[in-house]
Amino acid sequence: MINLHTHTVRCGHARGTDREYIEAAIAAGYKEIGFSDHSYLRLDEYSAGNFRPDEALVKDYIRSIRELREEYRDRITIHLGMEMEYVASCFDEMLSYYKAQGIEYFILGQHIAYLDHGGCTYAGAPTDSIGTMDRYISDCLEGMQTGVFTYLAHPDLIKFTGDREVYKARMAEFVRKLVSMNVQLEYNRLGFYESRNYPDPDFWAMAGEARADVCCALDAHSPDVYTDTDTVRRMHESLAALGLRHRDPAIIKL
Ligand SMILES: [Zn+2]
Ligand SMILES: [Zn+2]
Repeated sequence: MINLHTHTVRCGHARGTDREYIEAAIAAGYKEIGFSDHSYLRLDEYSAGNFRPDEALVKDYIRSIRELREEYRDRITIHLGMEMEYVASCFDEMLSYYKAQGIEYFILGQHIAYLDHGGCTYAGAPTDSIGTMDRYISDCLEGMQTGVFTYLAHPDLIKFTGDREVYKARMAEFVRKLVSMNVQLEYNRLGFYESRNYPDPDFWAMAGEARADVCCALDAHSPDVYTDTDTVRRMHESLAALGLRHRDPAIIKL
């Protein structure tokens, strides 16, 4: 299995050194992994539509992963990516900046959810606003339509606490559109392991019926996630019960 979803300590909520992630991946038998740290942008910057990443973090991240990639090249293939939100107002700027810096792929993780009366919040925070859910969905679809994201991370991140029937109707349409666009959907290990709102059983039942293209990914925030092969086995079993199967993602190069 390829895993393209690995964070580093630079995002502020992960543990371990870059090297420890690689060593753990090798120990677990991975032949190919990708680092895809968060974009070093704050939520309020996204909310304002600005693009001002922490340049020191970006440069340190790229330098470190490149050095390690060289050092480990005979043992494992390492890709250099980022997990990114889609914000229309600064998307072009973001894309050209990260491309110039040497980032090779993006996965779309739409962690931002816009509130009805302005401002924004983390998309995994509870909301009963249909408007917020609709905006989350349309941002994901628009982002994937750009064609630069390798896949959609935790597509069911939005935590809608309102009427379940409304949620199901919206998600049915969301899944239908994603499948028609051939978007690969990520079955997320972090949410699975911590029993978060994602993977959402209704969402994934629909993905199963639609025979969606899926990948399992670790969303590793600590190196030991790589060696916990039991959780990955259980994820594959859950997918199989839905008639789904992991397919290694094919990187879309920037
Ligand atoms: Zn994420
Ligand atoms: Zn992540």
